[in-house]
Amino acid sequence: MNITTLHSTELPGMLTDSALFQGVDFTLIASELGQSHPFDVEAGHVLLDPDRVNHDIYVILDGELLVCLEPLMPQPLVRLRVGDCVGELSIIDARVPSAYVVAAVKTRLLTIAKPVLWQMLANQPVMALNLLHVLSQRIRENNVVLLSSIELQRAYRSKAESDGLTGLHNRSWFQEVFPKQLELCERTGQQACLLMLDIDHFKRVNDDYGHLSGDQALRHIASVLRSNLRSTDLCARYGGEEIVVLMPGSDLLQAQPVAERLRQGVANAPLVLADGRALELKVSGGLAQWQPGTTLDDLVRSADQALYEAKSSGRNRIMTSLLIKDLRASQA
Ligand code: GH3
Ligand code: MG
Ligand code: MG
Repeated sequence: MNITTLHSTELPGMLTDSALFQGVDFTLIASELGQSHPFDVEAGHVLLDPDRVNHDIYVILDGELLVCLEPLMPQPLVRLRVGDCVGELSIIDARVPSAYVVAAVKTRLLTIAKPVLWQMLANQPVMALNLLHVLSQRIRENNVVLLSSIELQRAYRSKAESDGLTGLHNRSWFQEVFPKQLELCERTGQQACLLMLDIDHFKRVNDDYGHLSGDQALRHIASVLRSNLRSTDLCARYGGEEIVVLMPGSDLLQAQPVAERLRQGVANAPLVLADGRALELKVSGGLAQWQPGTTLDDLVRSADQALYEAKSSGRNRIMTSLLIKDLRASQA
């Protein structure tokens, strides 16, 4: 490209669509444009690099630039096209660039050195407004990138918190969330109850129907429980065939019918296997009421005790534990 010809005639025409030059009278910045140099970079060329101080702003005359966190990132954060500029942040705050800027294809750029840009702004104050507009656009783009990365993190997090077989929350979620919920109950003076459910004779299901049917039974029970829970109840797979439910805001009187509904829901919904056989499933449950000042471990121990009684007294039933403090007193 003939640079001299470009400066005098073609350059303003090429810049009229650029956000930075909107409404600019090019005759008033002709001398500054004369000091600004177009140049070509090949595809893959790293224009800006967080390890290199940048002193210029670049306007894309042709081609495309990619803003990336790493130079060879397959998914760029932002794509910059003809008329867009780059480098403005680092010349304004005099810090190194915050990301890599790489040419996607062979790209023609106009380089404007920092003092030349300041002079342009002095001659044509509308360019200062344009620059603010470019910066606000950049902030918006960054927010979009940030939001999608938060959503991604959430998705990873929910994967790490859920049990792959049943889709219920897993044990590590239980360990993180249940104590926090009890803390909240402590602060707000709310009641809470914990129900520990265990499938009856589940070993027999595996032995008689095979492990795959056992897995199917677990999924089935999880889905029956889910559809019988209230929106405020928290449910997690505690262990192999044990499921734990925390009911914030409920005392024993309120939690008992919920627990009973869960037990009956399972008993009344046999699982029909692929070969047509109906698999009757039952659960036993231990229900305990939380007392302020006691821990989740205390509560689990208390519910376990009640579950043990439900099993030893015939299964397919919910038993209620003594209040934890009473239980402690009786153990003393
Ligand atoms: P009880 O009524 O006393 O609870 O008897 P049970 O047979 O249910 O209890 P036990 O503890 O003897 O056996 C639990 C069984 O649960 C044994 C184990 O193989 C099975 N189990 C645990 N996790 C899974 C799972 O993810 N899939 C399958 N298919 N079985 C599981
Ligand atoms: Mg068990
Ligand atoms: Mg069992």
